[in-house]
Amino acid sequence: MTTFEALGIDARLIQATDELGYVNPTPIQEQAIPVLLSGTRDFIGLAQTGTGKTAAFGLPLLHVINAAAKHPQALVVCPTRELCLQIVKEIELFKKYLPGVSVVAVYGGASIGLQIRDLKRGVQIVVATPGRLIDLIERKAIDLEKIQYVVLDEADEMLNMGFQDDIEFILKNTPARESTWLFSATMPPEIRKVSRKYMKEPKEVTVGKVNMANKSIDHQYYVTSAQHRYETLKRIIDFNPGIYGIIFTRTKVDAQEITERLTREGYDIDALHGDLTQVQRDRVMGQFRDKSLQLLIATDVAARGIDVSGITHVINYELPDDVEVYTHRSGRTGRAGNHGICISIVHSKELYKLKQIERINQSQFHKLDIPTGKDVCRKQFFHFMDKLLSADISHGDYETYVPMLAEKFAEISKEEVLKRVAAMEFDRFLKYYENSEDLNIRDRGRNDAGRRDDRSQNTGRGDGRKTYTRGGGYAKLFVNLGSKDGFYKASFLQFILDMSDLRKDVLGKIDMRDMNSWVEIEKSAAQQMIRSLDGKSYKGRRIRMNDADSGGPGGFQRRSKGKE
Ligand code: AMP
Repeated sequence: MTTFEALGIDARLIQATDELGYVNPTPIQEQAIPVLLSGTRDFIGLAQTGTGKTAAFGLPLLHVINAAAKHPQALVVCPTRELCLQIVKEIELFKKYLPGVSVVAVYGGASIGLQIRDLKRGVQIVVATPGRLIDLIERKAIDLEKIQYVVLDEADEMLNMGFQDDIEFILKNTPARESTWLFSATMPPEIRKVSRKYMKEPKEVTVGKVNMANKSIDHQYYVTSAQHRYETLKRIIDFNPGIYGIIFTRTKVDAQEITERLTREGYDIDALHGDLTQVQRDRVMGQFRDKSLQLLIATDVAARGIDVSGITHVINYELPDDVEVYTHRSGRTGRAGNHGICISIVHSKELYKLKQIERINQSQFHKLDIPTGKDVCRKQFFHFMDKLLSADISHGDYETYVPMLAEKFAEISKEEVLKRVAAMEFDRFLKYYENSEDLNIRDRGRNDAGRRDDRSQNTGRGDGRKTYTRGGGYAKLFVNLGSKDGFYKASFLQFILDMSDLRKDVLGKIDMRDMNSWVEIEKSAAQQMIRSLDGKSYKGRRIRMNDADSGGPGGFQRRSKGKE
């Protein structure tokens, strides 16, 4: 195994990494550091977060900059404030024995005046988010003329977040750039394009496989129906009493709503989404980092760049559409050699997405049964007993109470005491799960609605899916849900499909207004859609759905009653 010495790094940097407990370089460090130390070679490192890539570029940067020159020489651009601070924190640790080297973080959502003051102090390394950096360039508060090294960290995330123009602007405006070091977990074509345009024969290094998920992550999934998604989530949380995790939702409305429900039910949880102010965001992240929050619910955009160590579980409340988004979500756990679990709650219609992720990420998913109420209670019980046994009784004055306790419990056996402690802790819990239902979707063929719907040329298939023959034309359905309910077209479409167990290809145009929407659907599938939604509730409001062409609200209901 190579050592940091053998890679040619300054001894003062090695002293710092020694103190941090780094014994050997990680694979990306081993391959990147010798190239980057030259300072003149462009470099592309394809590596996931958690592989040690901050040190892979941080150590060479500190090695190549000139500590005596007090102007910005290196620019690290990364997608988020959190990552920006994380990078600066690590560089600060590495430069412990390098006098005269300064590094500063500049990012949005904080006072630009203070950051301008910091920049004027004569820093050599600037770590920046793209938006704030452009702002500083336009205010002429930062001089890029003498920047020799540009590092693009998590380049794919920056492009995902729409920073492509900003990155190109930065690369165009660094005329003295001697080398560009690009790090990314994946290699979408846009990054390839940027690298062709702005880099010279970069040395490309891949750690593991591109897009390959981290091997230390166990990918698990549970299959349930749309209406049991929330209950399944709760059960997963309850079944993992020591969980410290992030739950991902597609929309901020979902994030907010689930947080509110879980908080009401006594869970330590808060939400991170785009509507929060920077102060609120900092408060939530602070609480999560110091573990006063056990769970964080986040949307993808809000969670970009989050790097919190020790996350045990990532839960996909719904699967993302993009394989890359799945990779980024799951990459929040299983970091720095730790084991992590990524759980997805899926509907049977989404199983094909798992196959896609498996194929591209070359990882394997494990299907698990959703725990029964009994499983959950048993798990909680043993967790509590473990906690009881490992309670620290070395402090405090417990000894003085022992004679009194002995007297008080003289008539009761040890078993009885244990039972009573358990009852105190679990009574509510046991009651909650007493008659809990099985949330798993078992292979039991079609549901009743499907079988009854024989008028609709429904060709039930053995794989639990339904196909509808085309040709009957479209019906237009009215529904009293709209954008005021927090829906976008895509989330609305997903919602009605999940509720009805129908496939996307039966739908035509969707016309969404504030309060109502109109859905075109193949006639053969219309009744199933109506039966599945009409009369159900959404956020406490009763859903009304009917055939828009049958004489207004209520018309369809009357007709369908007459027929059945
Ligand atoms: P990163 O991929 O840069 O986010 O690094 C992930 C974690 O690995 C960080 O907590 C680093 O401190 C740690 N780390 C980086 N390099 C090494 C190393 N050579 N040995 C041990 N830990 C490391």
